[in-house]
Amino acid sequence: MRGDLLKKELSLFTFNDLLEHFPYRHLDKTKITPINQVNLQMDYVQVAGRLTDFEILGERKGKRLVAHIKDATGTMELTWFQGIHWVEKILAIGEEYLVFGKLGFFMGKPQIVHPELEIRTQQNADGKQLLEPIYPTTEKLKAKGLNGRSIAKLTAALLPQIHPKDLPENLPDAVISTNQFPTRYDAYRNIHFPADNEQYEAALTRLKFEELFFAQLRMALIKSNRHRFSKGVMFDKVGALFNDFYNHHLPFELTGAQKRVLKEIRIDTARGHQMNRLLQGDVGSGKTIVALLTMLLAADNDYQSCLMAPTEILAQQHFNSISSLLKEMKIDVKLLTGSTKKAERQRILSALQSGEVQMIVGTHALIEEVVQFKNLGLAIVDEQHRFGVAQRAELKLKNTIPPHILVMTATPIPRTMAMTAYGDLDYSVMDELPPGRKAITTVHRNESARPAVMDFVKQEIANGRQAYFIYPLIEESSKLDFENLMKGYAEVKAFFPEPKYYISMVHGKQKADLKETNMMRFKKNDTQIMVSTTVIEVGVDVPNASVMIIESAERFGLSQLHQLRGRVGRGSEQSFCILLTGSKLSNDARERLKILCATNDGFLIAEKDLELRGPGDIEGTKQSGVMDFKLASIVHDKELLELAKTISDDLLNEDPDLSSAKNLLLKNFLLSKKGKTEWSRVA
Ligand code: ADP
Ligand code: MG
Repeated sequence: MRGDLLKKELSLFTFNDLLEHFPYRHLDKTKITPINQVNLQMDYVQVAGRLTDFEILGERKGKRLVAHIKDATGTMELTWFQGIHWVEKILAIGEEYLVFGKLGFFMGKPQIVHPELEIRTQQNADGKQLLEPIYPTTEKLKAKGLNGRSIAKLTAALLPQIHPKDLPENLPDAVISTNQFPTRYDAYRNIHFPADNEQYEAALTRLKFEELFFAQLRMALIKSNRHRFSKGVMFDKVGALFNDFYNHHLPFELTGAQKRVLKEIRIDTARGHQMNRLLQGDVGSGKTIVALLTMLLAADNDYQSCLMAPTEILAQQHFNSISSLLKEMKIDVKLLTGSTKKAERQRILSALQSGEVQMIVGTHALIEEVVQFKNLGLAIVDEQHRFGVAQRAELKLKNTIPPHILVMTATPIPRTMAMTAYGDLDYSVMDELPPGRKAITTVHRNESARPAVMDFVKQEIANGRQAYFIYPLIEESSKLDFENLMKGYAEVKAFFPEPKYYISMVHGKQKADLKETNMMRFKKNDTQIMVSTTVIEVGVDVPNASVMIIESAERFGLSQLHQLRGRVGRGSEQSFCILLTGSKLSNDARERLKILCATNDGFLIAEKDLELRGPGDIEGTKQSGVMDFKLASIVHDKELLELAKTISDDLLNEDPDLSSAKNLLLKNFLLSKKGKTEWSRVA
């Protein structure tokens, strides 16, 4: 019965699951709290005292046994609702007891419901430190007598049955000795039942390291196998298209970072192995042109390429800017999204299959099965945060030889996250903005300053600039969000009446062609103001816009705010971002706004975002499935993660097949977990 419950409630199916159900804290059983010192902040307490009295109160469902114990400082109530009959028999008035349990307060007085009782002996009165594990549990389990402490009894019963051979060492000797790690067997024992804190910490560190290390090793293996064994299409010539564009149609000189990244891509795509590359660059660093040049490289080598964006607006915009950049060249670019008309879709699909179309831009529509290419050689995914790993994998299947894949992030992601979620990818960074950009001035304003903010916008518009007003969007289709936006629109319109001013509005409920018209009007400066939800968030590029007003800014995450802010500051004019909020703000929100006002550095903001929110909330990480460490955290265990990466990289550099004797343990462990790795490729 209890077994079934453990399965249902905590997914504990096997001994191994129980072994890996780690305690969340330990309680020093020898620590006795004087009764007058217990307080609301305490959770589990242990007190010791003499039983003074007990009696049975109430009837039927209200029936309970209430007892009191007394130490030198005060009296505490103990209550039982169940097993009264049994408890009554063992209680002895006048006896000294050790009492342990979860502290509660009833009518202002401390009490423990269903405490654990032990008669106090000399041994437990002055024993050495005894750390008892307390485990995560659920209310339902507690009701069935499986509280966080009684799981300890199960674990305690399990441990003696486990022998060192059941938990064989899996790390090389050198790693253990240099880092003074306990053995794997000791670590498992001590994380549950340590003799002291030091032992616990050592066990915890070793097991955290193990998690991080094997994750890193798996990633590094996938990467190394790809470098060594994968088959990839060859982009070995830089031909007429690339050169013509580069020499005659490039509207600006590339930045040093853009040139460096292009070179990395060229080397990587010319080796005959598949490229899988992550391109990180801050907002506005110019990733689009790098994508286009890579697509031209593919075309020069007679391969098709696709560029996939997360929203229709963005796909449309990429399509527009690529088409216009290429307008004097003879190359066919198409757009495919969910709202492409049926006839047009049919034409595109057959042109892709015949190879007539060399480049295509689109949304998720591109990965549908009906989309077949003649010879797809390159797939670029823009703004990766919104794509899952599975979708990336589907792209690979679009050709018998998997196409090269370039993933571009919207804003930087923290290093520890890149290492864990994208550790199997090669990595390029654009850490330089195009010349002439002025840092965006960001300020936080209260709702009460709205008239002044509106005057400021008027002034900017009078100088020929344009402005965005962004409203929060919680769910794309939420009615409330929509009403909010409409209210905002009316409000903005009251300040900026026609015909002096014209306003564009874009939101998720609009038909694609209406969105497109509204976007184009703003882009052409036919409208001076864009009112929008966050559909505008990624990628939209209107260099003449110089003011970004974010309404209810406290409701956005840091990276999202940074991404939104990146819609301005794309031209040479000084730009402004104004974060509007009400006056009541949580500490976290205040902190976010403060960081944003203080820096424009997306790499720094990404780190702060991770610290403030934790990895679970960062977009895109949930699907990736690689963040679910049991013990380790990419926020709190950065150093350990770095160590794990260094060691796994060194190991594979020296012994890429893990074939030497000293790496035998590792290899065996990986083989035993096969299926989760690409080890089979090597074996
Ligand atoms: P993001 O990296 O955010 O996708 P974009 O590719 O949209 O950035 O580029 C931002 C803006 O900077 C665009 O208007 C683009 O034309 C311009 N740009 C890109 N590279 C350069 C460059 N080397 N010099 C000048 N302007 C550039
Ligand atoms: Mg972009």
